[in-house]
Amino acid sequence: MNGDRSRARRLLTQLRDLRDAAAALSDALVLLDRAGRVRWFNRAARRLLGLEWPHDLNAVLADRLGDSELGTWLREGDQAVADDVAAPGGQAVRLHVEAIPFGHDRRLLLARDVSRLTRLEQVRRDFVANVSHELRTPLTVIHGYLELLDPEDVPALAPVLKEMRAQSQRMGQIVEDLLTLSRLEMQQRLPEERVPMAPLLATLRREAEALSHGRHRIALEDQAHADLLGSPKDLHSAFSNLVSNAVRYTPEHGSITIRWRRTRNGAEYSVTDTGYGIPAEHIARLTERFYRVSSSRSRATGGTGLGLSIVKHVLNLHHAQLRIESEPGKGSTFTCAFDAARLLEAEGDAG
Ligand code: ADP
Repeated sequence: MNGDRSRARRLLTQLRDLRDAAAALSDALVLLDRAGRVRWFNRAARRLLGLEWPHDLNAVLADRLGDSELGTWLREGDQAVADDVAAPGGQAVRLHVEAIPFGHDRRLLLARDVSRLTRLEQVRRDFVANVSHELRTPLTVIHGYLELLDPEDVPALAPVLKEMRAQSQRMGQIVEDLLTLSRLEMQQRLPEERVPMAPLLATLRREAEALSHGRHRIALEDQAHADLLGSPKDLHSAFSNLVSNAVRYTPEHGSITIRWRRTRNGAEYSVTDTGYGIPAEHIARLTERFYRVSSSRSRATGGTGLGLSIVKHVLNLHHAQLRIESEPGKGSTFTCAFDAARLLEAEGDAG
């Protein structure tokens, strides 16, 4: 008897400790039953979600949060994580929220204050955008004067002038790419326009031929006969970055194939080359800004190290995925996979 009682007391103490620890957490915790009613919440939930103890016990949380961003997210209920949503009642506070299933049909709602991180991220974005913008004008001026100087007037300086022109061109390209990235990062929604693929593919092929100067075999396979829905300008820029990489990282006499084909879940645009290829350990990092496998090769071919970051951002905005397959010495395939929801039947008899 005595043993039972002391075990019960021990259990009770443990339970109380657990509840006190959860109550003291700086993240908001809310236990929800299968109907989405509040069973329990900690102190941080009062501060971050505006819940009132004990008034809000048993309230349906989604109703309690009303039309706030979080209330809408809870009602839609199709995603387990909401990154960067406004705290109900306070726009200045940003939350990272997770709904974690546990027990029988119950959920634990976890909300963390990420305002500081969000602010820092905003400062970083603004800084990059401002620096790039400020550099644009002086670079245009330098570039303009360099163009005015005729190497034939000062033959001794001709090689220097050539190098200065090439470098100012490169700086200009880096600034333009950074501005493109900033714009893509700030963009939340896309223009939902028809992107006619047949003419776009023809343009991409012409661009490949112009870049290659006859050094590669270039093929185009359009088997999808479908158009895309999205931003024509950004998709062109992403697709053409992949084509330009294939040309730049494939030695003379190699082949490059641009493909557009249907898959089970949608369609894929891909560029295959028979070039240098990429060692496996680099592949996961290629879309990071300024990440290069070999910076000398990238520079020598006029790369900025930003092309694949742009590709990734454009694809994210189109809810599409980038897949990279490569074998050193054999070549690479970069594939952009689009969902069926992004496809439109080509107008007329495309081809
Ligand atoms: P860069 O301007 O340097 O080409 P990207 O962001 O376009 O920058 O590409 C990042 C790096 O990925 C490149 O520096 C190169 O090392 C590698 N890479 C990209 N495409 C290919 C390819 N088709 N074949 C081999 N390596 C590639």
